[in-house]
Amino acid sequence: MDARVYHSISYGLYVLGVKGENGAMGGCVVNTLFQITATPPVFAVSVNKENQTCSLIQKEGLFTASALAQDCDPGIIGLFGFHSGRDVDKNQNGDLALSPNGLPYLKNGSCAYLEFAVCGQQDLGTHLLFFARLINGEVLSSSTPLTYAYYQTVLKGKSPKLAPTYRPDATTPAPAKQPAPEAPKAEAAQDSGKKQYVCTICGYVYDGEIPFEELPEDWTCPICGVPKSMFEVK
Ligand code: FE
Repeated sequence: MDARVYHSISYGLYVLGVKGENGAMGGCVVNTLFQITATPPVFAVSVNKENQTCSLIQKEGLFTASALAQDCDPGIIGLFGFHSGRDVDKNQNGDLALSPNGLPYLKNGSCAYLEFAVCGQQDLGTHLLFFARLINGEVLSSSTPLTYAYYQTVLKGKSPKLAPTYRPDATTPAPAKQPAPEAPKAEAAQDSGKKQYVCTICGYVYDGEIPFEELPEDWTCPICGVPKSMFEVK
């Protein structure tokens, strides 16, 4: 099968927010949230069972989904998409706020948040598919929502291993019939023979003005936050 068929499906990127233990705020990035009925307004979202967020949604029966903005700090994607709440405080940068119902949502870098009550679930093996009714929501900014295509083609990000769309053999998508929103600088660099440095954790491709070798030693990946040493030449 032609693997490019996977690239014909469009997605957004969202931060799910849930209540954690002892007042903690949990959350993770998903790209599989979509509305499935209008009356009542029911949505579906798939969450990997290994994500702490999955068990917290099961326990609480309530969660939020914040639509990431195209101009959000990529570090938000790194914190919520490539780190577990078992190891880090998801509100370490103060990006979360509480809804009137006491659920955390992303107040910085998002277009809106939606609040849901779980009304069903389906076990899909690696993931649980939750069905959830929309109970509240608020528009937070007029920014353009971040799409998965923009994340992959412009930010050069990859799917985390627990994402439903993760494929170990995946390369950066380049659908023939759907050009990238703007020409990625990294591709231009490749054409000129310049070395491409790629983050081995999140797949981010460095394309800054300063040569990678000359970046300070305390420089870190803008998406997932790992040091220079975790980059390798593509
Ligand atoms: Fe990274």
